[in-house]
Amino acid sequence: MNQRFDDDMERMLFTPEEIDHTVHRLAGEILTQYLDKPLTIISVLTGSLLFISDLIRLLPIRLHLDFIGTSSYGDNTTSSGTITITRQLRLGVKERHVLVVDDILDTGQTLSQVVDIVRALHPADVKTCVLLDKPSRRTVDIKPDFRGFAIPDLFVVGYGLDYAEQYRNLPYIAVLKESVYRS
Ligand code: 5GP
Ligand code: MG
Repeated sequence: MNQRFDDDMERMLFTPEEIDHTVHRLAGEILTQYLDKPLTIISVLTGSLLFISDLIRLLPIRLHLDFIGTSSYGDNTTSSGTITITRQLRLGVKERHVLVVDDILDTGQTLSQVVDIVRALHPADVKTCVLLDKPSRRTVDIKPDFRGFAIPDLFVVGYGLDYAEQYRNLPYIAVLKESVYRS
């Protein structure tokens, strides 16, 4: 079977250039905030992989990088509401300023639970950064401190975001064709 996936996309939402521009803007905002603070970045796996690797290259400061693994979606496109921790944090964050970075803020369940986990470790401060935000879907009261794009209620893939573990390697962010979900 041909494994090319170009035909699976309904339309492109953000081009690589638009993403790059936004990641630069976010890096500037983050840099201003943490120039004089001991920063620990916590990347929420796996979706934030491309975002975090582009973002940290633009931060010329001493920082620690840790990962937390969460899973809320199965092979479908609606959140189950229950978050499972699939990879634990490894670094201590006591008295450090923590920035939790995720790909997308949807219902808010994932990020708010990760923030609670981090708070329990007694950092100096916890802030959040997401590339994408779907404010209309929120069930938990949480607003990102740093936000790339606000988007309507659409299921998106690419630049780290998957559908059934596929499409993370798309260099842009896209909406999938409905036929892909049905097949
Ligand atoms: P929440 O817990 O806020 O409902 O969902 C957050 C997580 O669900 C994100 O970290 C992401 O992995 C996944 N998610 C939410 N919306 C989308 C989407 O539109 N596309 C993809 N691929 N994943 C999403
Ligand atoms: Mg995620």
